[in-house]
Amino acid sequence: MENQPETTVRRHRRIIMFPLPFQGHINPMFQLANLLYSKGFSITILHTNFNAPKTSNYPHFTFKSILDNDPENRRFLLADFAQDFIHTQDHADALRHELKLLASGKDEPVSCLITDALWHFTQSVADSLNLPRLVLRTTSVHSTIVYSSIPLLDARGYFTLDDSHLEEQVVEFPLLKVKDVKKIGIKSSKDPYAELIGNMVKQTKTSSGIIWNSFKELEETELDRVPHDFPVPRFLIPFPKYFKASSSSLLEQDRTIVPWLDQQPTKSVVYVSFGSLSQVEEKEFLEIAHGLVYSKQPFLWVVRMGFIKNSTWLESLPKGFPGERGRVVEWAAQHEVLAHEATGVFWTHSGWNSTLESICEGVPMICSSFWGDQPLDARYMSDVSRVGVYLENGLQREEIASVIRRILVDEEGDEIRERARVLKQKADESVMKGGTSSESVETLVDYISSL
Ligand code: UDP
Repeated sequence: MENQPETTVRRHRRIIMFPLPFQGHINPMFQLANLLYSKGFSITILHTNFNAPKTSNYPHFTFKSILDNDPENRRFLLADFAQDFIHTQDHADALRHELKLLASGKDEPVSCLITDALWHFTQSVADSLNLPRLVLRTTSVHSTIVYSSIPLLDARGYFTLDDSHLEEQVVEFPLLKVKDVKKIGIKSSKDPYAELIGNMVKQTKTSSGIIWNSFKELEETELDRVPHDFPVPRFLIPFPKYFKASSSSLLEQDRTIVPWLDQQPTKSVVYVSFGSLSQVEEKEFLEIAHGLVYSKQPFLWVVRMGFIKNSTWLESLPKGFPGERGRVVEWAAQHEVLAHEATGVFWTHSGWNSTLESICEGVPMICSSFWGDQPLDARYMSDVSRVGVYLENGLQREEIASVIRRILVDEEGDEIRERARVLKQKADESVMKGGTSSESVETLVDYISSL
């Protein structure tokens, strides 16, 4: 046994992972699973039948469906009913049953359970079985800290301030404006979304550790507060630097656009995608379309089925759109697009995966935001990292075109591009031997091995 390589020894230990079934949560969990597998652990993925993962892309993992929560077995990104199942405790019995079976396996001891932070009920199940549970928080450190202060922000009345206060600074988080905090989408700390976040924060604090898809140099200033708010072992790893998210895509990724990208001038294309869940009104949709045309830059726009409220797909677009200069696809191979030399800017909804994927490829951003952590990420990218411009006053065609040209054509763009290049370099260095992320990976592996 002593002379076997470390990975072979560890392959006799299993990690059970349980992602929340949404694209922005599935991708980082699978990236982490691949990373831990590459370090020698066996992996079992527990999943729901709603948005079930494509198991054939992962022949090296074991899969177990534990929650029959969707009678129609849908594999679709968005479902209103799905909001409910995060809130309920009904799944605890199914999970306990499955974990008991898995943990009693003699050949391969189970080291720990790693679940999405929002599956907060899993902590009590893990406790009842004496199984350590680590948490994967799929947002930034910054927004995790803001979320842990929601009761305080509520007590200070921020969520109910009227519109005359929107541009004011939040005293407790001077980086943020009142409108950023209001856009999270919470009305009071008693509404169901706030309760969910409250439970998530509480159960993360009692977990055996927290893993973020991030890196130290990106959120250095936030890290001082973490030991106070989350006094558990902490690990920051920028997953896109280790594994692409494409193999866990729930939708087929359109790769036919790569030859089109190949024909575009270097750093000229606006890549537009608002993630897997956000939706716009038809009026906003048309403003985006006209803004892209007015910008006179080539563009690649991801319009998901269901992106436009009360509309199936593209029927409301003006005749002749997108014309010669643009392409519209239903779902892109985002990593390939961001890594392509023709891509000059990413207009994003500021979901955390998209934000970090852009940073890891050194692509500057135009930041929009809809709800949740997105307004916090957008503010951070524009005012702290300064690798993006925040379109914070809604979607108007003239402003859209002007921001695109500011980044791709004007001198201001050179400065933002340079900062994006430097930040990418920091991410690259962090994963090199001795770098902060590389050390975080090694510490995590040692920690799990010690459990
Ligand atoms: N994504 C993709 N193709 C697309 C748009 C998005 O593969 O056309 C992926 C993207 O790479 C990211 C995830 O979907 O990993 C979206 O996660 P994010 O946190 O950015 O946003 P969410 O969908 O959770 O709002």
